[in-house]
This record gives sequence, C-alpha cells and structure tokens, in this order.
Amino acid sequence: ALTSAVSCCHRGARLRLRYEVLNIVYVTSEAVPLAKTGGLADVCGTLPREVAALGHRCAVILPAFRSVHRSGLKIDTTDISFAIPMSPGKLVGGRLLRCLLPESNVVAWLIDQPQYFDRESLYGDSLGDYRDNAERFTFFCRAALAALMRIEMDVDVLHCNDWQSGLIPALVQASPTAYRSLSRAATLMTIHNMAYQGNFHRDAFAWTGLDWKHFTHESFEYYGQLNFLKTGIVCADHVTTVSPRYAMEICTPQHGCGLDGVLASKGGRVTGITNGIDETVWNPATDSTLPVRFDVDDWQTGKVANKRSLQSEFGLEESDDVPMIGLVGRLAEQKGWDLILPVIRQHVREGRPTQWMILGSGDKQIETELAALAAEAPQQVAAHIGFNDALAHRIEAGADLFVMPSHYEPCGLNQLYSLRYGTIPIVTATGGLADTVVDTTAENLANETATGFHLHEVSPRGLDEAVGRALQLRYHDQKNWNNLVERAMSADWSWRKSASQYVELYDHAVSLKR
Ligand code: ADP
Repeated sequence: ALTSAVSCCHRGARLRLRYEVLNIVYVTSEAVPLAKTGGLADVCGTLPREVAALGHRCAVILPAFRSVHRSGLKIDTTDISFAIPMSPGKLVGGRLLRCLLPESNVVAWLIDQPQYFDRESLYGDSLGDYRDNAERFTFFCRAALAALMRIEMDVDVLHCNDWQSGLIPALVQASPTAYRSLSRAATLMTIHNMAYQGNFHRDAFAWTGLDWKHFTHESFEYYGQLNFLKTGIVCADHVTTVSPRYAMEICTPQHGCGLDGVLASKGGRVTGITNGIDETVWNPATDSTLPVRFDVDDWQTGKVANKRSLQSEFGLEESDDVPMIGLVGRLAEQKGWDLILPVIRQHVREGRPTQWMILGSGDKQIETELAALAAEAPQQVAAHIGFNDALAHRIEAGADLFVMPSHYEPCGLNQLYSLRYGTIPIVTATGGLADTVVDTTAENLANETATGFHLHEVSPRGLDEAVGRALQLRYHDQKNWNNLVERAMSADWSWRKSASQYVELYDHAVSLKR
C-alpha cells in the first residue's frame, strides 16, 4: 500500500498522522446498478464509491448475472479466464468481465460463468431457491480468489458481504500457499441480514475442493451442515453489521438466528455501522424519475404534485388532502405484512379516509391478498406487484406516510429514503429502524428531534394506533407536522459519515494484521 504523510494542528500541538491509501476489494452478490434484490445492492454499489472518494483504491467482485448485461453499463471482456476443479472430473471454467461503477473509478470485476449465473433471477425462481446454490456460490468464492490472483492487485482488505461470499476468509486460511498474496489481507465479514445464512447439507463442502479435515467447528461446519455465513463470521478478522442496534440484537438468542453464540466468540469484534443513502440517486431535488422535483423549501407543492400523479396513474381517488400511505419492499414475513394487511382491511371495511400505495414482490400469498384488497377498494388501495425502481422513487415522493413495521430490520433503507423525501416513516423500534427514526413524543417534539413514529405495540392494533397518531398531528397540529417533515428531510443520512467509519475499521484491522 502507498503511504504518505499529512500534518494537522490540534489544540496548538502539531500532530503528524500517517495517511495510508488502502486497497480494498468488496466481494458481493449484489451491487447497484448491476444486480439487486434488496438493500445489499444499494450498500455494495455505493460504499466502494464513497470509500474511493476518500482516497482509497476500491474494487468490487460479483457474479455476471443476466441483469448485469441489462444494467446499461458498458461491460468489457478481459483475457483473464480460470478453471475451477469443482469435483473429480468436473472442471468449471469462467472468465472475467469488467466495468466501472457509475460516476467513479471503481472497477467491478464480474465472474462470468453462464451455466451458474446467466439465469432470470439471482437466487431462485417461483419453485424456490435454486437447488445448486451451494455449488454456484462456492464456485463464486473460489473464482473470486482465482481472479484476484490473476489480476495481481495488492489487497489490504477483503470485505465480504452476506453468505454468498462467506467462504472466502476460510478458503484463504485453508490454502495459504495458493493465496499467498492474500494471506496478509485483513478480512471483514458484513452481515446485511442474519436470517439468510446459506445453510446446506454437509456434502456441499466437497465443492470447496478442500480436504475434509477442514470441515470443523472452527470454520465450515455448523451442527453437521455447511453454513456459509457462520464460516465467514468465525474466520473473518472482523465482523460488522449495518446498524449499532442490530449489532447488539444479533448477539441475543431472539435475533441471533442460532448464531448468537458464534458471534459471542468474536469478543468485541462485532461493529454496527449504519448504512447511508446514495444521494446521487435518492435526492428529491434532482431525482429524474419524479414528475415534479422538490426540496425542503417547496415540499408542500412538490409532494402534492407527485401524489396527484400516482393517484391518476393508479385510479385512486384524486384528492390533495387524503393521506397517502406508501409501502415499498419485499413481500416477506420480515417486513410485517401480518400487521399491515389487517390494518388495510380494517381501513377499507370502515371506509376510513386513507389511501394505500403499495409496491412489492415475493410471497405469493401476500401478493394475492394485496391484489384482492386493491380489487375490492380500487379508489383506496393500489398494489403494484413486481420490482420497479422508478415507481419506488415516485412512491417515496408522493406519499405522506411510509409504513415499515418490520419484525426485525438490520438497517433498512426505505425509511431513510422516506425521511429524505419528507414522507414520515412509521416503524417498529427494532434494529436500524430504531437507530434512524426518532419517535414523535411530546418530549421529542419539544426538543426538536422527532422524525417519525414508532409502534408502541407490535400488532395490527399497534400499527393502526401509530398511523392514528401521525394523522392526528398532520390534521390537528400543522405547525409541528411541517417541522417534522422539514427536520426529516434535512437529516444527514449521506454515506460520508459511514464510509469514514468503515475506513477507520479497515485501518484498525490492517494494523492488527501486520
Ligand atoms: P431489504 O434489504 O431487507 O430488502 P431495505 O429497506 O434495506 O430492505 O432495502 C430494500 C431496497 O430494495 C430499497 O432500495 C427498496 O427501494 C428496494 N425495493 C424493494 N422492493 C422493491 C420493489 N418491489 N421495487 C423496487 N424497489 C424495491
């Protein structure tokens, strides 16, 4: 790594600080705009660019999924190819493609292996997860390491993300000679969601090509199975997750998803760093997907215009005043649909003056129930089933309230986008939601910190009550409502702060490694 020195003054004393340019490689299965199913993509597409902007050299490695070729980025071929012996007699070849992440000099290296990765979705189809996911992502981890050897890039930090890259620290440890140049790199494992661990039958270990003597509790083995995330947690030098509250929660049996004991064995080396938002994409003043852009000084007219446009497009009652409640997210149990659906049903049944604008895809049962509600009350409920990035932006802009009653939430991005777009979030006080949304209590209104509403009870009744509190303020305390919106919009959730925290951690991890 390149080292230079800078000087600065601190309380009159002249301090000399070493400023080291670090080489950081992010290994991930998602990064916007190349491949996305959730927040992992937002983080891994943005964090490397922000860290690069702080003066470090960053690269990303991810699979060349089909979506990569539809991303609009210019994808170049390279002359680097590799062949991984996946099992006796099965040599799987691949080659490396590359592109630049938008508005940056960050190279994304793409592992091209069409049989594994050129599929309609990233992890599964309507029948469930792809049956060969253990094989696909073991190949990905091994190919990423093979690619790094061929690129001959200096690596100070190998930053792995979620289970799909979880084997990497263990593979490096198990084959120090094969990966000699990486053996001095600090390894980080970031948990974006503890519930997805990549837990497979032990036979899948054979895809690693390692001797079975490595299949132990100190690395790959977890209750007789191969667990990718557990392997990453145990073998990485440092573990992080995406909010301080979630970092505490996952060390408890309630939220540890069986890995709380494994995390405890890391001692103090589990850090929570809250995600930021990519303001080149999520900024209502510059957002090109919006019919009308707005900022903190003209949000009232701007938001109404965006609401009107959604109402007319989706056949909802056209009115400035009716409160629009927005929901965007995966249709998964985690997101609290068991609370949301009964509340919408109740509002429809009682003809309450609310409007629900929903975007999501996932669980078929939830999709069916949402479609039924939209058919029953087309002027009150609109449900768009599918993945639609532009519509997600427009809902954030047009809605008055955003509902996110997750049962657990590592960080959550939609509530941050909501804050930025002046759409007051209603959230459960868990994980990153608790860390980023300040409840509107009398005290928090008085000390001017409130930015949203917490559920005081995790139930449909608790959600309805929180919606009621929000509407009460909106209709009966206009001054405080306006202050709330303006405070929410002005809060700084840019990546700058979080990127600096990651760099501090990289520095620390690198210094321990030397
Ligand atoms: P998670 O990662 O658990 O899905 P987050 O709130 O952290 O939840 O991030 C979700 C990201 O995915 C956000 O950028 C959100 O806008 C986006 N998203 C989720 N579902 C959809 C959808 N159906 N259409 C468009 N964007 C979506």
